[in-house]
Amino acid sequence: MTEIFTGSFTQQEPIPEEGIAAALEVLRHGRLHRYNTVPDEISHTALLEEEFAALTGARFCLAVASGGYAMSTALRAVGVVPGDRVLTNAFTLAPVPGAIASVGAEPVFVGVTEDLTIDLNDLAQKVGQASVLLLSHMRGHICDMARLMDICDAAGVTVVEDCAHTMGAGWDGVVSGRHGVTGCYSCQTYKHVNSGEGGFLITDEEEVAARAVILSGSYMLYERHRAAPSPEVFERVKYVTPNISGRMDNLRASILRPQLRTLQDQVIRWNERYRVVEEGLRDTPGLRLTHRPEAEGFVGSCLQFLLLDWSVERVLDVLKRCAARGVELKWFGAPEPVAFTSRYDSWRYAPSAPMPATDRILAGLIDMRIPLTFSLEDCAQIARIIRAEVSAVYQLDTPEL
Ligand SMILES: *Cc1c(COP(=O)(O)O)cnc(C)c1O
Repeated sequence: MTEIFTGSFTQQEPIPEEGIAAALEVLRHGRLHRYNTVPDEISHTALLEEEFAALTGARFCLAVASGGYAMSTALRAVGVVPGDRVLTNAFTLAPVPGAIASVGAEPVFVGVTEDLTIDLNDLAQKVGQASVLLLSHMRGHICDMARLMDICDAAGVTVVEDCAHTMGAGWDGVVSGRHGVTGCYSCQTYKHVNSGEGGFLITDEEEVAARAVILSGSYMLYERHRAAPSPEVFERVKYVTPNISGRMDNLRASILRPQLRTLQDQVIRWNERYRVVEEGLRDTPGLRLTHRPEAEGFVGSCLQFLLLDWSVERVLDVLKRCAARGVELKWFGAPEPVAFTSRYDSWRYAPSAPMPATDRILAGLIDMRIPLTFSLEDCAQIARIIRAEVSAVYQLDTPEL
């Protein structure tokens, strides 16, 4: 009998009971705005920032309205101005070039390797074209950070990290988001903590932190922040930094705080699931898994594989066959962006030169989510289905030996 998977690729786990209780309390007292506190009260938002700073080891943390907002704020805070060029990954999600465009800057796209990390040779060639790199650890793949930092440091390029898929991850024991000047995270439903929308920005640089706080819309209430620099630092920047409101609120902060406490356990659960899918797909003819280096402490909340140099028809056939058996896969090679997939050349507001080596990877790149609502048996079944369908299509088109 043909197996069919009946689970949902978009179903999250519930918010922890502790978070629900805290959220109800916030709803009952009604002080949702982060600066709306009674005497001696510390808002959930301020506590959340303090807790995230402790979790990542950063000196300063700001909670904001989205991951995209964290990135545009980071770019402004490190001094990007309209007309600047900003290096970034050709393989990333739309909010990344969008953050660059939102500050009036222009992306310079850097290619992707078969292991889905930024192509450091391409970066080394292009690094002279900008003074900031918005590095996206897209789908959780972390490049050789030591080499990346060498290239950027030698060229005087400031690194801002997009850690939307690497909250809880690290490189060579260093928390992801702590190599660059700032790290930006997302708390959107499909990331590693879930408040619907939300984000964090971390940094050790006091003026970057002070500018970010004022940019986010602190009015002149910055002294209520606990993971922020001292008031003298704000004195230096407060008259020259615009307010571009994008604050976190106490309702979302209240449901995030307990999730930060269980993040490390969730990472273990994601990786157990990832390894089951990976094992199930290993050595499937025609399918290339991404190599995950020893130094990469990743979070397996999604998995990618390459059908490298397959024709469009065969890739579409695999997607159709898997979908018919309940396995929802996304393809980054489609000429028209579908769901969250997109290609650098579909961001037409940002001019780009053709990148044939990157096009070859994107044309074969398949992505699947691994929500924690999947059991290990679900993961094994999904892998069996993908393996069977990829093998079937591969054999169809492969001439007899
Ligand atoms: C989700 C995501 C973001 C930020 O998304 P928001 O929806 O703005 O929170 C940034 N980069 C990548 C790679 C993402 O996947």
